[in-house]
Amino acid sequence: MTPVNVVGGGLAGCEVALQLAARGVPVRLFEMKPHRRTPAQISDRLAELVCSNSFRSANPSNAIGQLKREMRTAGSHIMAAADACAVPAGDALAVDREQFAEHVTQAIEGHPGIDLVREVVTAIPKGLTVVATGPLTDPALAADIAARAGRDSLYFYDAIAPIIDADSIDWDVVWRQSRYDKGEGADYANVPLDQATYEAFVQAVVDGEKVTPKAFEEAKYFEGCLPIEVMAERGVQTLAFGPLKPVGLTDPRTGEQPHAVVQLRMENAEATAWNMVGFQTRLKYPEQKRIFQMLPGLEKAVFLRFGSVHRNTYVHSPSLLSDGLHWHDDPDLYFAGQITGVEGYVESTACGQLIAWHVLAKLKGVAPPVPPTTTAFGALRRHLRADGILSAYSPSNLNWSLFAPIDKRRREKKHEKKARQAARAEADFNAWWAEAGI
Ligand SMILES: Cc1cc2nc3c(=O)[nH]c(=O)nc-3n(C[C@H](O)[C@H](O)[C@H](O)COP(=O)(O)OP(=O)(O)OC[C@H]3O[C@@H](n4cnc5c(N)ncnc54)[C@H](O)[C@@H]3O)c2cc1C
Repeated sequence: MTPVNVVGGGLAGCEVALQLAARGVPVRLFEMKPHRRTPAQISDRLAELVCSNSFRSANPSNAIGQLKREMRTAGSHIMAAADACAVPAGDALAVDREQFAEHVTQAIEGHPGIDLVREVVTAIPKGLTVVATGPLTDPALAADIAARAGRDSLYFYDAIAPIIDADSIDWDVVWRQSRYDKGEGADYANVPLDQATYEAFVQAVVDGEKVTPKAFEEAKYFEGCLPIEVMAERGVQTLAFGPLKPVGLTDPRTGEQPHAVVQLRMENAEATAWNMVGFQTRLKYPEQKRIFQMLPGLEKAVFLRFGSVHRNTYVHSPSLLSDGLHWHDDPDLYFAGQITGVEGYVESTACGQLIAWHVLAKLKGVAPPVPPTTTAFGALRRHLRADGILSAYSPSNLNWSLFAPIDKRRREKKHEKKARQAARAEADFNAWWAEAGI
């Protein structure tokens, strides 16, 4: 059998390689280290964790905890390595990063079905191929991908605004209205700020602790997509004339236009999640929580995703990948990991697992596997297809708003609802996996 090419020996690429090889499919895995490293890497091992050593929450009532549960059920090799190299971290799964990378490197190097080729790939190889070169894909290969994708569909930075759980918004204060009542009128919600609140908010944004960009992350911001802190630093009224402009909006409680308005845009068709319009930011996550909870009606906001701005090479998966998750006009080409627009160690690994199943289905000549949308894998796939997502495509961690919604129960507490969602995901995934025949 001709080997499947896997480009990139990171988390996603190693998961793809080990999944395929475990089922007797020969793999040629390309990794550019030691000839070249990305600016974030410091070792020549495979599956290097470039920052935190945490795979985040182990609790299944958290979406990422549920994803890990499904990955283990489906035999994730990276999850098994993480479990073998775990260090105590309370409610989270954290690993000894060197032991972990060594564990995965040995599994790959010692596998008779995997040919590890240490070279810089400068163009997508011919034949059945999975590209898993991550957020810092080497430039020559990125240029080849850009040539296929079109200039507007391969991105080098992400500028992400926070997303808020609808159930945590105080709808007695926040009201739904589109500017000048244009359009459907229901797609936007508005957070009113009087002058004193606005000025205190701007000051808090200016003073708030920011993530220090790495040397290779000095983004050249587009004027239309500036982080809120950059605008706030330009002058106290800049935000009020920018994303927080109140024109065309009337607070139904006062009958007047507020001094400033933070707009929220419906993030998904079910309106269970709301995106803070124009709120891309480098404020640290705890600072985002503290400062954005100063806003009227958002005092108890639960953030499904925080804002960020960092270097990140990714493709516009919803338009460039097909329903079978291969490249839209090349059934032999797949992408896996962070380069698809998933975000985080666990999501990138899970994406590798999902894509390996697709490659296996292709080799068997059967239909691609589609996990139910109630499961974490189904939610990950939904994100890649932008299924039910209304905002422009941007990288995302897994969160409950990407799952099919669950019915509301009166007086149910948030943690009870999450527990029900997790139990449903677990039952549905187990049933699906048992039948999937992968
Ligand atoms: C600076 C930084 C910090 C991050 N911190 C965190 C964090 O704390 N927690 C978290 O969950 N996520 C974090 N992420 C996101 C994290 O990178 C991804 O979640 C994860 O590593 C992506 O996995 P991947 O397999 O898609 O890519 P990677 O793990 O990056 O693997 C890609 C591999 O491809 C190789 N490669 C690239 N180009 C070529 C080429 N042309 N030829 C051959 N090989 C190539 C690279 O050397 C690398 O080994 C961070 C990302 C960055 C950039």
